[in-house]
Amino acid sequence: MPEFHRLRVAEVVEETADARSVVFDVDTTRLPYRPGQFLTLRIPSDRCGSVARAYSLSSSPVTDGRLAVTVKRTADGYASNWICDNVTAGTEIDVLEPAGVFTPKSLEEDLLLFAAGSGITPIMSILKTALATGSGKVVLVYANRDEKSVIFARELTELTAAHPGRLVVLHWLESVQGLPTPEALQSLAGAFPDREAFLCGPKPFMDATRRALREAGFAKSAIHLERFASLAGNPFDTATPADASTEQNGPEDTESDAPEDAVVEVTIDGESHTFTWPADKRLLDLLKENGIQAPSSCSEGICAACECRVTEGEVTMVNNQVLEQEDLDDGYRLACQSLPKTPKVKVDYD
Ligand SMILES: Cc1cc2nc3c(=O)[nH]c(=O)nc-3n(C[C@H](O)[C@H](O)[C@H](O)COP(=O)(O)OP(=O)(O)OC[C@H]3O[C@@H](n4cnc5c(N)ncnc54)[C@H](O)[C@@H]3O)c2cc1C
Repeated sequence: MPEFHRLRVAEVVEETADARSVVFDVDTTRLPYRPGQFLTLRIPSDRCGSVARAYSLSSSPVTDGRLAVTVKRTADGYASNWICDNVTAGTEIDVLEPAGVFTPKSLEEDLLLFAAGSGITPIMSILKTALATGSGKVVLVYANRDEKSVIFARELTELTAAHPGRLVVLHWLESVQGLPTPEALQSLAGAFPDREAFLCGPKPFMDATRRALREAGFAKSAIHLERFASLAGNPFDTATPADASTEQNGPEDTESDAPEDAVVEVTIDGESHTFTWPADKRLLDLLKENGIQAPSSCSEGICAACECRVTEGEVTMVNNQVLEQEDLDDGYRLACQSLPKTPKVKVDYD
């Protein structure tokens, strides 16, 4: 069962005309996180009680004392506008524990970062943390509509001055250069091979950048994407206050006599595990119930954090809003949405 924390807002910073940073009166000792992770906020609603929305932490767990998220207004969006219009110092907001897998394995390596618009938020956290703790070089390609819409412009200028040999920021302004072209993205990608690449921004930007990286020779495993989308469900419906929760839930019984049950062999972190897989159980739930720490995030089929590869047999995905035909052809599936389709399935996370 998820746990939530009630956090007090310390201050709200106006970053641009339509983006605000919400700085919480809490530090990493109470809520530890990795750069690139996000918080899920409970936003009150007269219509349904509340809605849940994910916002990436724009703060660094190393250089910033307090946790912050940065929210950009979505046209006709409910939660983003509610936050920008209503949240002030002193507002209390319920948040789930930091989550997400959009985080570098090593902050020592050189990084290639691509951000567009509000996609800068998790990238900013990664960038600040890598500069503070690692020794690698960082290139950021940052696309925006125009100069006025550049979130963190001043902070990026200061960081570039503070780390002249390590940080290069390439601003791409649509008002000046038009949309980033595939050729430009490919030549940028090709100039920095052998790096881990992190991408965050609107779908067309991520699609074009990912294609450019693939064409420049980047392995799929070296390309990391964070996709922004609104959650359909509300995890706060079953969440409990962090301080009040004492009960531990043990694994449920996953045995079933149903004839449709399959057998799944899962390879993860160099180890193989075999389980009976009930026909109506999602793969991610099965793994979690059996104590396997499989990566996951939204659990709704919109973020791809739980993507794994089916190497034998087949699964049925209940919902897939993120994997493309190229991914499906390569055998990638979403564990949070996968039910068994054949009696024997092999899945590889490594
Ligand atoms: C991992 C992750 C990280 C993200 N990080 C960021 C970030 O750093 N910064 C950022 O800006 N965004 C981020 N997002 C996107 C963010 O979660 C939201 O999707 C975005 O802010 C748009 O939400 P919205 O409610 O404003 O718009 P929408 O979701 O488009 O709002 C419309 C929806 O709200 C419902 N609605 C309308 N009125 C009401 C009402 N009164 N009560 C209840 N529901 C209503 C409608 O039915 C409709 O479903 C992230 C998303 C993910 C998944």
